[in-house]
Amino acid sequence: MEQKKKGFTTGILHADRQKGIEHGSLHKPVHNSVAFGYANARELAAVFQGRQPGYRYGRQGNPTVAALEDKVNLMEDGAGTVCFATGMAAIGALFQGLLRAGDHVISSQFLFGNTNSLWQTCAQQGVTVSMVDATDVAQVKAAITPATRMVFVETIANPRTQIADLERIGALCDDLGLLYVVDNTMTNPWLFQPKAVRAHLVINALTKSIGGHGNALGGALTDTGLYDWQRWPHIAENYKRNPPKTWGLAQIRAKGLRDFGAALAPEAAHHLAVGAETLALRTARTCSNALALARLLQSHAKVAAVYYPGLENHPQHALAGTLFRHSGALLSFELLPELDCFAFLDALQLAIPSSNLGDNRTLIIPVAHTIFYEMGQERRASMGIAESLLRVAVGIEDEADLLDDFTQALQQV
Ligand SMILES: *Cc1c(COP(=O)(O)O)cnc(C)c1O
Repeated sequence: MEQKKKGFTTGILHADRQKGIEHGSLHKPVHNSVAFGYANARELAAVFQGRQPGYRYGRQGNPTVAALEDKVNLMEDGAGTVCFATGMAAIGALFQGLLRAGDHVISSQFLFGNTNSLWQTCAQQGVTVSMVDATDVAQVKAAITPATRMVFVETIANPRTQIADLERIGALCDDLGLLYVVDNTMTNPWLFQPKAVRAHLVINALTKSIGGHGNALGGALTDTGLYDWQRWPHIAENYKRNPPKTWGLAQIRAKGLRDFGAALAPEAAHHLAVGAETLALRTARTCSNALALARLLQSHAKVAAVYYPGLENHPQHALAGTLFRHSGALLSFELLPELDCFAFLDALQLAIPSSNLGDNRTLIIPVAHTIFYEMGQERRASMGIAESLLRVAVGIEDEADLLDDFTQALQQV
């Protein structure tokens, strides 16, 4: 009998048990073993040759990590998922695993700061990256060269919340056979599945809302199954033993994990898997808190500008409504120019000045002075980042307490 597809949260909660768990444990145990034993030496050889499922060495795979990979794969409706030590390791594995000197990548210019820095590292190694305004598919199209192989975008840009022209870019990549990679971290798979806009590979920094508790780093790369890897020119022969749909991830896993060693620790995988169970519940709360806070700030006389896709004056407000379940948990704003943003931060009592996002706690940071400091003012200006911009990663506090805190801090400044 065909089983009815379960809801998002039900699916995650019961994913582990589908494969049977040791001793009837309801959580996949933390397997702190680097190496694995086999029934006999022939089995050892069969596992190493990929003829039999099993684990070889902790750097290339681990049962606790594999259980988390299954969960993320379920959330993204993927054909396969590989987990990494961090979100940046997952993005780095794209380059180690897929790109070669001479290749060209088109990326959104509104980008997580460290990904921006990674593009510069790529350029030093012969992979050129064009940064374009990805809110407009025409700009992506205009940047295409004969060497273009990949288009990389984020869903909602951090910190200014621009939204990429996700659906049209997906159609363009489909037409031209370009690999379409979407970093889904600023939304998450409950708010949005990039597979719906024909993304081929999806990045999630598990560190953020999927883990949710700010107590473990992790990243994931999901293959949606929509790309034909027979079209990719750089797959080595040894990753072509299994059907073509497995080729991309097989090579990414081997390069990113085995060769570069960015393996996720089993303890961290356990923390992230427990956090993921409440992703939908927490996200409903962070998004409603974010909308309430955005409205409060927008109506306040001391605030010059608020950037949040849930506000009617956001340039892609309507687009956000068609793509995402809610408008996300991140907003940014500017105080009136004569006000001191540091004095405001010091007046807050609940919201914590800190760099993370997707935590249960509300975190706030002056971006130009911290996470975007290294890139310099000119580059910041090109990304629409004012020197006084404050980014708020909204948590699950009770709404009234959060609004009270911002109201009293605004009063003091
Ligand atoms: C945080 C973040 C990453 C990197 O994740 P880490 O786990 O911190 O390495 C990548 N992309 C986006 C959009 C992020 O917010």
